[in-house]
Amino acid sequence: MTAHAGRYAPSPSGDLHFGNLRTGLIAWLFARQSGRKFLLRVEDVDSQRSTIDSAHRQIDDLLTLGLTFDGDILYQSDRSAAYQRALDRLRAHGRVYECYCSRKDVQNAPRAAHHVPGSYPGTCRELDDAERERRREELAAQGRKPALRLRADVDTFTIQDRYHGEYTTEIDDFVLRRGGQDTDWAYNLAVVVDDGFQGIDQVVRGEDLLPSTPRQAYLGSLLGIPAPEYVHVPLVVNQAGQRLAKRDGAVTLREMLLEEPVHHVIGKLAESLGYPDVFTLHKLLQVFNPDDLPREPLVWR
Ligand code: GLU
Repeated sequence: MTAHAGRYAPSPSGDLHFGNLRTGLIAWLFARQSGRKFLLRVEDVDSQRSTIDSAHRQIDDLLTLGLTFDGDILYQSDRSAAYQRALDRLRAHGRVYECYCSRKDVQNAPRAAHHVPGSYPGTCRELDDAERERRREELAAQGRKPALRLRADVDTFTIQDRYHGEYTTEIDDFVLRRGGQDTDWAYNLAVVVDDGFQGIDQVVRGEDLLPSTPRQAYLGSLLGIPAPEYVHVPLVVNQAGQRLAKRDGAVTLREMLLEEPVHHVIGKLAESLGYPDVFTLHKLLQVFNPDDLPREPLVWR
């Protein structure tokens, strides 16, 4: 759709907090400094956890902060047909199979010593048609549907990251569409298809997503979507070292704005990037240097 673009892609499951804003701001700085477009995508692929009200509040917050976006906002909840097309394409190449395992089955499955905890050991990969039919009926009787998994043909995949360099993980047969009662598309599929569709060639996001990135890049390679430039940035954490969350108190933009004007919030964000005494996005755009970004998680207060 668009050539040379970065993006911010929040999940609308609550108000944006300081950590979300910081990541969004860094993504904006990277895109704007490199002359890219900057697109906003609402990652509401998880229908259980997303609300449209939350999406609208997040968009308002980003505009309040002064971030600017190009083009239309893309909602993942509108993208089912595109995800289905990607699935069909993978299926046509024999790369999709049904999986009847529950989460517990996956946790308890025996696996070779080198497997990463939580990775899928391939339990349903080689079942014959009769066994599949039996397992499908078993699930249907419980009102559940099988998940769909990727039949991966590599053991590992390597990506390049601006701050982490060469980064490799094991590639398992990860989920493309979730099973159970609801059959939402998996985030790993949605993000790859959407980044491809939107012409995203620079992905700046929280470091918590780094471990999923080789899977996404591998899936992209199967779908003919080139890997973007990856920039995974440190998270903001609480005193206990956990990812900042609402329960940490007064962390959302809305809460902060009850106490202070928006330029103070921008000041705090700028300071957290190493620029005290900067209170406008305009100025921050002039002084921001990606090489100076602190590499450690930022401890909130
Ligand atoms: N929606 C994800 C989040 O809010 C971000 C995904 C991404 O940037 O690729 O954590």
